[in-house]
Amino acid sequence: MIPYGKQDISQDDIDAVVDVLQSDFLTQGPKVPEFESAICQHTGSQYATATNSATSALHIACLALGLGKGDWLWTSPITFVASANCGLYCDAEVDFVDIDPKTYNLCPEALERKLKKAKTENKLPKIVIPVHLCGQSCDMQAIRKLSDEYGFKIIEDASHAIGGKYQDTAVGSCQYSDITVFSFHPVKIVTTAEGGAATTNCSKIHEKLELFRSHGVTRKPELMTHAPDGPWYYQQVELGYNYRMTELQAALGISQITRLEEFVNQRHKLAMRYNDKLANLPVTLPFQHPDSYSGLHLFVIRLQLEDISKDRKTVFTELRESGIAVNVHYIPVHLQPYYQQKGFNAGDYPHAEQYYAEAISLPMFPLLSDSDQDIVCSTLSNILTS
Ligand SMILES: *Cc1c(COP(=O)(O)O)cnc(C)c1O
Repeated sequence: MIPYGKQDISQDDIDAVVDVLQSDFLTQGPKVPEFESAICQHTGSQYATATNSATSALHIACLALGLGKGDWLWTSPITFVASANCGLYCDAEVDFVDIDPKTYNLCPEALERKLKKAKTENKLPKIVIPVHLCGQSCDMQAIRKLSDEYGFKIIEDASHAIGGKYQDTAVGSCQYSDITVFSFHPVKIVTTAEGGAATTNCSKIHEKLELFRSHGVTRKPELMTHAPDGPWYYQQVELGYNYRMTELQAALGISQITRLEEFVNQRHKLAMRYNDKLANLPVTLPFQHPDSYSGLHLFVIRLQLEDISKDRKTVFTELRESGIAVNVHYIPVHLQPYYQQKGFNAGDYPHAEQYYAEAISLPMFPLLSDSDQDIVCSTLSNILTS
């Protein structure tokens, strides 16, 4: 089977993890802050907070921005469920904004229309989470302009996008947002096994992220309600969680991030080969926005179903039966039973649903060989034209 995504673990990665196992610290040692510095260095952000997943980073990002009961969080329906669930964890209400049919990212025009309507109903969102689908940044300038006008906060879900750029800055710089979240799950661009991070340029937000990551407990006297009782003293000042990253994960991350540029370059090489070899098939290839240099976590094609004698399910099944482990990203979140039960319906977000009916993620990972990629292309070609 050729998978759709796979980690690339080097001997250096292995040695880095083994070194930690033989050191004094398995948690709360020097590696986590070192990994956070590496993330700041790469993104150009002031602060980074490493966590045990992007899901927990999204949760504490919402908490750090004060999301709570009675508030609204909006995101894209074409994302992993975690981008929406973080709002529900905070007892907030979740709603969606349809995608742009070309980029598949949250559409700024649809966002503006929805904001205008929400304003008249007094239901403006507190947080909007644009998701950089497949690694291509959303139109952050347009979204930031709307945030200034309507007063919502922005968390970028950049789980797909580390190593990418928006205009001239690295994704994660938070130039147009309050917080950016990354995932280091093994299928993503760099991995720590499980893991995530939140970057920000605001010291107050960073302070809150650190508190919520670790039980709401602090050892910093300036955050306490009174002077410490003694050198042993800590205070719990918020209701936080244990969302900490381990030293093992951080050591793997430090080692992996040194190859980030190489990983993304290799993904771009593969994308160019796909664009070349699939050009004459009845499929829509990924649109490349001129403002964005994609991290290329995923390579999603859309089947031009009117020119194909099979439906998406048949094409998908035949690819799998031929040894190509394609995938679909994503089932629209509002069509999940948990969200349907909250009142969302089929038909609510037509561009997202149309995209879902046609999308297939082809294998995309640095270790994909040219010969395996050629097999993917010829197999797809045979399936679509037979
Ligand atoms: C993978 C992913 C997440 C969740 O990441 P974890 O690190 O597995 O928690 C959230 N959002 C998006 C868009 C993702 O792709």
